[in-house]
Formats: sequence, C-alpha cells, structure tokens
Amino acid sequence: MNISPRSHSTRTVAARIGLVSLGCPKATVDSERILTQLRVEGYALQTDYVGADLVIVNTCGFIDAAVEESLGAIGEALAENGRVVVTGCLGARAEVVRQAHPEVLAITGPHALDEVMAAVHAHLPAPHDPFTSLIPDQGVKLTPRHYAYLKISEGCNHRCSFCIIPSLRGDLVSRGIGEVLDEAGRLVESGVRELLIISQDTSAYGLDLRHRPDFWGGRPLRTHITDLARALGDLPAWVRMHYVYPYPHVDELIPLMRDGLILPYLDMPLQHGSERVLKAMRRPAATEKVLERLSRWRAQCPELVLRSTFIVGFPGETEADFERLLEFLREARLDRVGCFAYSAVSGAAANALADPVPETIKEERRERFMTVQAQISREKLAARIGQRLTVLVDAVEDEAIIARSYADAPEIDGEVIIPGAWEIDAGDFIEVEITDSGDHDLWAQPVDD
Ligand code: SF4
Repeated sequence: MNISPRSHSTRTVAARIGLVSLGCPKATVDSERILTQLRVEGYALQTDYVGADLVIVNTCGFIDAAVEESLGAIGEALAENGRVVVTGCLGARAEVVRQAHPEVLAITGPHALDEVMAAVHAHLPAPHDPFTSLIPDQGVKLTPRHYAYLKISEGCNHRCSFCIIPSLRGDLVSRGIGEVLDEAGRLVESGVRELLIISQDTSAYGLDLRHRPDFWGGRPLRTHITDLARALGDLPAWVRMHYVYPYPHVDELIPLMRDGLILPYLDMPLQHGSERVLKAMRRPAATEKVLERLSRWRAQCPELVLRSTFIVGFPGETEADFERLLEFLREARLDRVGCFAYSAVSGAAANALADPVPETIKEERRERFMTVQAQISREKLAARIGQRLTVLVDAVEDEAIIARSYADAPEIDGEVIIPGAWEIDAGDFIEVEITDSGDHDLWAQPVDD
C-alpha cells in the first residue's frame, strides 16, 4: 500500500497510521504483519498522508538505487506528514537514515515487529477500542484476495559476495512447521487460491532447527521443505515455490510436482553460468551438474517450468565468461529469466574485487543476454498454442480477462489474456485453450471442462 500526498493540513485526533511499503515480497510480508498488529491493537489504517497521525516507512536497502528510493520515500513522508517511523532493510543501517533525515521518530531493522510497535506506542498510544480490534483471521494482506505470500523463514546462512542480506537480516531462522501450516490454512479459508512460498533460501527451511520433528493435524512432520511442500499440497490452493537454492534435496520436490501436490514451477536464482564467476560470487559452481539435474527433473516432470535470475557484468567477468553464460542459457532453455547488470551494494564483499566491468559493457551484455532469452521464451510460449491449461483469474476488465497459468508467478512472469467480456470473478479457476503467443504473454479462449 502506498499513500498519496495530502491535499490540506488538517489532522484528525483518531490514532490513524499510514504505511509505505517498499522492497521485495519478504518486506511485503513484514508490512502485512505490522498492519495486522496495528489493527489488533485498534489503530485505524490511513491510505493518504492527510489523516495519518504517524507514517511507517518500510524500506529496502538491497542496492544503491533502492537506498535512494527509500530515502526519497522517507523525505516525502516527513514533508507531507512530519511524524515518521522507519523500518526494513535500510533501517538496519540507521546511520544512513539519520544522516539524511535526522528528524525521524525511530528506526528499526527488518523483521522487527516488536520494535516497530514499541516505537508506535511511544509516539501514538493505542486506542484500546474492542470494536476496532476485530480483524479478519487471515490478518491484513497487501496482495489481492486470491493470492498470498507465505514467509517460512528469515535470514540466510550463505555469504554470496554481492549480497548484504545476511548482514541486514542475519542467519537463517525458520518458523515452526505447525505455525506455517496454520497460517496457510487460515489464508486458504479466507479465499486465498494461491500460496507463494518465500524466504531468502526456501530449500534451507528447517536447517537451523535441525529439521525438528513436529505434529500438525495429528500427523508427524519434520521442519523440512519436503514435508512442508507435501502438507501444503493437501490444501485446496496452488502452491508455488520461490527462491529455491539448488541443494541436492530439491530433487525430492520434483515427484510432488509431477503428482500435482505443488505447482511444477521452480524459481531458482542461478546468477551465472561461468564457474569462475560463480566462485567469485561464492555460489555453487558446478554448472554441468546443474544442467544434468535440470534434464533429469524434466524427464521426471515434463511440465516443469523453471524461472531464474542472473547477474551480468560482475567484477572480473570476461567476454569468455559471458559467452559461457550464454551457452549455459541456450542449453538450459529456462522458461522465465530475469537479468540484472551488476550494481555495487554498499557493504558487499564484491566491492573489493578487481576488474570492475565498465557500465557500457554491462549494459551491452545485458541486452545480448535478453536477446538470447527472448528467442527461447518466444519458442517456448509458441509451443503452448493448442494446449489446454487451467488458469487463475487475476482481473476482469471490460474487454478481457487477465489470468495466469501454473507457469506464471504474479507480478514477475507473463499473463494469459482472454479477450472478450465474461461473467467471472478474480480468484476463479477456468479451463482455457491457448490460441496465440507473444514474447512473454499468451492469449486464450475458455473451453468447457
Ligand atoms: S543466498 Fe540469497 S540472500 Fe543468501 S547471501 Fe546469497 S543472494 Fe543473499
């Protein structure tokens, strides 16, 4: 939820709070928890600056551009409202925030619900109204009603040289499997049709708890991604896995996908295809093994859709490294791919590496990368023409339905567009036949089951 500039200076006396949420889905989940707690305590939520008594800005600090955006958002909230609490990843670097905006009321790091609430209590006491304390069981969500992010852990045990998330969010801390499944159940009961499983490192789930055994619904479960996926698969909702680091035990998820328990979709950030660059990134460098595993997975589960992200122009990346990456891309034939030109992050170990790649070369490589991938994506989407797919309706417009199949995660992948006016609602599942394809999206017509 973002809030728009206020139009006049009147302030109401009610305890009303605005929230500006920036950053990744993990930050969105933090924002949802803050909003839920505010409602539990009887605060009213305000969607513009004018009526808010205080504004919380949930920041992102992942790359320098995100830091600038976050500092800008804090400045705007201060100018428009004046009473601002800062939280989120940039909040972990309080000195950066204080230097730019010394007048903020309080600063906390990410995933710090208790500290945020303490700052709110200090500057705007809770109203204690039992009627306003009534909130829906599923909490307050920032995503549309029919899909929801489900955060299963916080932090990360890896130390990729380009990333400062472990220093911002700490080492891996997993939520108990019973608590995660309870939340998933509540979300599905409230109308959620798709659960998007997120964390910094989804496949590491439970490692910090030594995969502690637990019971849920009378059934024994380990705090492990395979047990979690299997249990989530019993819920009447799509389950989509994001940020799956390529550990060997990810192999165990593929049969669950083949059997229809979870969506045959894996979001697996691979970052590069050159062993030399992967080593400099401090990532697993066995590229050949990754290719072998992809083909084994596809043999086991032919519908599997793979999404990944890559970084080009990492310090020391040579033309030969980049060619190796393109070769990897042509062999892997991934379905959905994001590509970023390397951008230095303050505090990242990679900043000390020699041989930075000039900006023009980074950009040129990014364009060459995207040209190769666009061709692969076009071919893969064209191969879907004539297929029948189940799609989940995201939006109903006057002249078309906007939907997604199992192959498309919301906000980052493509869409399935169904031209025409139809009696249908967002959140419905329908069967369609694919009639046309583009670079990223598909077109379809409804069919009878
Ligand atoms: S695995 Fe992800 S979150 Fe963890 S250090 Fe690497 S890039 Fe950062």
